[in-house]
Amino acid sequence: MKVALIAHDKKKQDIIDLAVKYKDILKNHTLYATGTTGTLVMGETGLPINRMKSGPLGGDQQIGSMIADNQLDLVIFLRDPLTAQPHEPDVSALLRLCDVFSIPLATNKSSAEIMLKALQDNLIVNRYKKGL
Ligand code: PGA
Repeated sequence: MKVALIAHDKKKQDIIDLAVKYKDILKNHTLYATGTTGTLVMGETGLPINRMKSGPLGGDQQIGSMIADNQLDLVIFLRDPLTAQPHEPDVSALLRLCDVFSIPLATNKSSAEIMLKALQDNLIVNRYKKGL
């Protein structure tokens, strides 16, 4: 499966903690991330991650483009709901595309844990199998 990891700045530690906790699951999948998130998670876990540009510099749009091109199966995007983001339109566009293409999306740590357990149990359906 192709999994994208993204976290706003105040959620970076959360995504690192998640990636460390679920490293044995994540290592079996192809990982993508926005720039800073990817650098941090890779540094802490040693997992190989395909890094896009930083979110505010177009990384969220690059992840969105992958969704439109059937290139992602799961998105974990730990959003900070209490801080204004300069790239909010890009964030909204990414979330919207997940809904357009029915891509599983976790936007907080609790839902991310459920998604990662679902990933482990092969409950995340590959885009190709969905016939999308
Ligand atoms: P970053 O981008 O991983 O480069 O910090 C995340 C975001 O804010 O969308």
